Amino acid sequence: MTNHLPRLGFRPTSLTVVLVLLLAAGLTACGQDEEGPGRPHGRSATGLLQSADRLRPPMPKVLDTSRVDIARLDDDLRSALADAARAARADGVRIEVTSGWRSREHQQRLLDEAVLEYGSLEKALEYVASPDDSAHVTGDAVDIGPTEAAVWLGRHGSAYGLCQIFANEIWHFELATSPGGECPPMYADGASR
Ligand SMILES: [Zn+2]
Repeated sequence: MTNHLPRLGFRPTSLTVVLVLLLAAGLTACGQDEEGPGRPHGRSATGLLQSADRLRPPMPKVLDTSRVDIARLDDDLRSALADAARAARADGVRIEVTSGWRSREHQQRLLDEAVLEYGSLEKALEYVASPDDSAHVTGDAVDIGPTEAAVWLGRHGSAYGLCQIFANEIWHFELATSPGGECPPMYADGASR
């Protein structure tokens, strides 16, 4: 019993030291923050966003033009996506392009696969456009993932001109309005366009 006492007595002491050090570090950091030039005082939402901005990597992933499906997107679409991706990141959401530009061959292959899956061309066209009709083939459409990113963009995309086009595809976005404008009514599916 007596052997354990010194150890039990020691722990609160070192804990106190750690707490004092943490408190001191916190006070110093707050002091620097408020003295910083041009920074808002206190912990405002803007201050938190600026902190998030300082942490962001130099190039948003949606601008990764080493990927050919991103490199061949329409320039305005890609830059709208980059702006949206930055805003999403401030909300803790990471926007990824799961599919951007597609060659005619790629689009035809997707359609062929959909015909096998859905049993008819008519049904397949509700989900996959033909190479002649697909906005992916012209670089004017992106599919977004993961689901929470698609939901975020569905809610905030119009601020960047980005709109969900088909009611049955929450992941598919195109530039369809001016930034801050209103998105056009959605088509029920790809076949009704
Ligand atoms: Zn799509």
